[in-house]
Amino acid sequence: MRVELQIERFDPVSGETRLQPYELEVREEATLLDCLEQIKDDIDGTLAFRRSCREGTCGSCAVRVDGRTALACRTPVAELAAAGGTPTVAPIGNLPVLRDLVVETAPMWEKFRAVDPFLKPKPGRPADGRETLVPPAAMEVVRKEALCINCGACVSECDAMSVSPEFLGPLALAKAWRFVGDPREGETVRRLEALSGEHGIWECTRCYLCNERCPRGVDPRDAIAKLGAEAILAGHTRDRGARHANWFLTSARTTGWLRESELVVKTLGIVASLKRIPLALRLFRHGKAPLPWPRHKARDLGPARELHRLVGEQDRRGALGIVQGERALDRIEFVRSVAETDSEDVSR
Ligand code: SF4
Ligand code: SF4
Repeated sequence: MRVELQIERFDPVSGETRLQPYELEVREEATLLDCLEQIKDDIDGTLAFRRSCREGTCGSCAVRVDGRTALACRTPVAELAAAGGTPTVAPIGNLPVLRDLVVETAPMWEKFRAVDPFLKPKPGRPADGRETLVPPAAMEVVRKEALCINCGACVSECDAMSVSPEFLGPLALAKAWRFVGDPREGETVRRLEALSGEHGIWECTRCYLCNERCPRGVDPRDAIAKLGAEAILAGHTRDRGARHANWFLTSARTTGWLRESELVVKTLGIVASLKRIPLALRLFRHGKAPLPWPRHKARDLGPARELHRLVGEQDRRGALGIVQGERALDRIEFVRSVAETDSEDVSR
């Protein structure tokens, strides 16, 4: 199969970045990594990229293909060819490029280390002096996070990191949940307090790209949602993000709507909101924001309250889904469809 690729080349000496086209003949079942290796072996020995295991385990070969981050070893080149055009291969985002497809990973590891990626066990040992045994079901809540291979695909995609490089980011936060959610962990409160501060969990913009692109199904955004829920439960509600989440919930429960004009005051506080009055007036004038009064209220609050009740019933394991609320919504749909079927049966 004939394949055309263009690869973003970066020369650290000249500081020049350019796209270099390559054409090569590969097997139908070749991966993008096979292509990179063939280019290096047969066409251009100066091409720099990382790889190790070649089977999606080491996480070394993450690159961006037409702007989407993926593991080169798990990307069938036939699929790229079928999509048409000439695929562009570039280094992953949000990390400095060292050369061609090789990035400096030190900033990623710094954040990884910053969340103390080690279990800090509760004091005391089991009476028999051996290790603490945990039922497998209790570890379910951190099962996905334990699958992480530190490939950095989520870091590459993170919207929040691109505007705030200090943000801990999805990789480090998923790792943090791995320990906060562990039933043996003894420093959960301290960890949640640290993660609730500046550049922590509340800096995530909820773009969900990390979930979408993670090659291992870790779903880092879900881990961040779980950290947020636990932090609020533990009383860490001073951050704007926590106040925003709390008010969002209150507004939905009491009116069935998000009351945006009040959201600003509840999130920022009165003094900071006063400074935004000119902006608010401009928004009202252009019909971009509703007036706070009269309060907009849904005619039927039942579904919003039912959703709130169902989410409230979920424990940590209920947080296994993409977002707790989605599972609850599934249940509402299920209850409704059963009710509808029942009423159809009665009318027959
Ligand atoms: S969470 Fe997923 S995308 Fe992020 S480093 Fe781990 S395996 Fe890679
Ligand atoms: S959901 Fe949050 S952590 Fe994930 S990529 Fe978007 S901003 Fe980053």
